[in-house]
Amino acid sequence: MDKGTIERARRVLHEAGHILLLTHERPDGDALGSLLGMAWMLQATGRRVSAVSRDGVPASFRFLPGSESVLDALPAAADVCLLLDCSDANRVGEFATALPCPASVNIDHHVTNTHFAEVNLVDAEASATAEVVCELAEALGLALSPQAATCLLTGLVSDTLGFRTSNVGLRTMANTRQLMEAGANLPAIVEASLYRRSFAATRYWAAGLARLQREDTLVWTALSLADRAAAGYPGRDDADLINILSTIEGTAVAVMFVEQDLERTKVSWRARNGADVSALAARFGGGGHPAAAGATVQGTLDDVQARVIAATREWLRAHTPALPGGG
Ligand code: 5GP
Ligand code: MN
Repeated sequence: MDKGTIERARRVLHEAGHILLLTHERPDGDALGSLLGMAWMLQATGRRVSAVSRDGVPASFRFLPGSESVLDALPAAADVCLLLDCSDANRVGEFATALPCPASVNIDHHVTNTHFAEVNLVDAEASATAEVVCELAEALGLALSPQAATCLLTGLVSDTLGFRTSNVGLRTMANTRQLMEAGANLPAIVEASLYRRSFAATRYWAAGLARLQREDTLVWTALSLADRAAAGYPGRDDADLINILSTIEGTAVAVMFVEQDLERTKVSWRARNGADVSALAARFGGGGHPAAAGATVQGTLDDVQARVIAATREWLRAHTPALPGGG
């Protein structure tokens, strides 16, 4: 992050009395961890802060300090609007067209980020948005309380799948050390954010796993609204089942389809061995990272599944290196 951008962020935040923080729909650990980490630090400077998540805080993230203060509706007014972990303004769902002030600050780590705000603190090399927030805090002289550190380390741990992703290096470990020194409990965070699963989520997984499909190196499955209802799973997401699909031996790309309503289907892609699926997601109106990308696509579950699998199959054919000695 260059000094000029940080100075502009400092000025925008300094002048604000009421700061509205938002994160993306179907929030994950990085979305909520960076939202709440930033909220704790700004609140400590005496500002009024509203932290908003369109889908609230799923039960699995209620261990985050401050999670009970997260709103699922927009306040009527605010001086500054700060979006976290959003590669474009539409990631906040239908709130995108109802913000009480223009998007002022954009803090993110997606390579597909559209730089939609007045000040864009975007670092595609950061392993998580929480990492960008952690370094911004240091640059702005914001104090890291144990609560803020816990939220930010949850962002780091969950977006790196427990330090497993290829963007993890000394930088992430240095930030982890700083967050631990500020009071975050690493083993407790790893346990709570990666190794706790509700019974309902596990039954929801069972429905998806029961119809798992494979074609060469492509693996996929789907979760319907009926599966959600039968399992009693409250979220509109896949309960992280995609991360299991991508661990299947011999998989180059894993794809997950989650029915949202009769007209929209959420698609997630995961790539192994250096393949880049972010451009493929962008073709369907989404985005993300080279190894993990997503999109919300218009169409029924069956229709979107057919179109996306055809496109992914085509894309894999064009992007798979020929085997040595092959003809
Ligand atoms: P997931 O598939 O787990 O929802 O998301 C994987 C990655 O893709 C995340 O970094 C997420 O922010 C991004 N992503 C997921 N859905 C969308 C989308 O609809 N639009 C954009 N731009 N990015 C998305
Ligand atoms: Mn993230």
